[in-house]
Amino acid sequence: MQEPDRGHEVFGAPVLGASLQRYRREGRAAPELLSLAAALAALQVELHAELTDAPPPQDASPTPPADWAADALRRTADVVAAHSPQSVPALAGFAAGAAKLETGLLAAAARGEAPAVAEVAGVTGAAPAVAVYVLRAALQPHLAWRFGAGSACAGDLPFPVRQYCPACGGRPLMGKHTEPDGHRFLRCTLCGHEWAYPRMACPACGESEQAKLESFFVTGDEGHRAYLCATCKRYTKVSDERLLGGRVYLPLEDMVTLHLDDLARERGYTPVSEDGPDDPEQGRKVSQWGER
Ligand SMILES: [Zn+2]
Ligand SMILES: [Zn+2]
Repeated sequence: MQEPDRGHEVFGAPVLGASLQRYRREGRAAPELLSLAAALAALQVELHAELTDAPPPQDASPTPPADWAADALRRTADVVAAHSPQSVPALAGFAAGAAKLETGLLAAAARGEAPAVAEVAGVTGAAPAVAVYVLRAALQPHLAWRFGAGSACAGDLPFPVRQYCPACGGRPLMGKHTEPDGHRFLRCTLCGHEWAYPRMACPACGESEQAKLESFFVTGDEGHRAYLCATCKRYTKVSDERLLGGRVYLPLEDMVTLHLDDLARERGYTPVSEDGPDDPEQGRKVSQWGER
């Protein structure tokens, strides 16, 4: 049976309030980003709750029903537009345009598959990055439900080492080191599941030779780091709960660390969340049922 509060956990309800309070108190994050993160998480809890009357059947499709997807897209686009005035022109007509497309195509675009992203952007007129962001946020509650996504559990072992989400096959968004012991967990870009991963290895390629790995942070903000891998030229952002003063919600952490993305990209690195030229298997893996 589905646990009744899974959606609350996956979408941050137990930790988001305290985390937002810390950022507001410290004044280190843009207020509109904080309110966007809070509103999106609240909507995702709602959308997830609308699916959880029954557990998913074993053969349930990873693609949501068209009417659920259209509704989720409209509500998500409204929330993003309400908290992000600069995105309003890009989002005008996005939900209506996307609702005319097949949900399989929308799901492929949410996974970041380039031809699908280009088609969705072309039809809706949205910038590709905005389209992917809204699609991921809108479809995530369905994927979380379908694949039984769960939050980091300190009892999980990071072995076998898995560079893709063990629930749905998606890529990691970013990672966290949890209090009190510094265990590392990665969060899936697609379904929101969190899984344990070795601290001393690259989340993109598994490299564990320490000479190939380095990290950097901005002075005064040691709790947010980017880990760079010289072998695959990917970087992974990681939030350290022990240094940030409490538990974190990774979609919010992702929003408040965009400066680390800029710095890592300037150095020629690609985020672990994106497909690279050496990842031909990603789409195939996602379309299957996961390992569990
Ligand atoms: Zn996943
Ligand atoms: Zn690597």
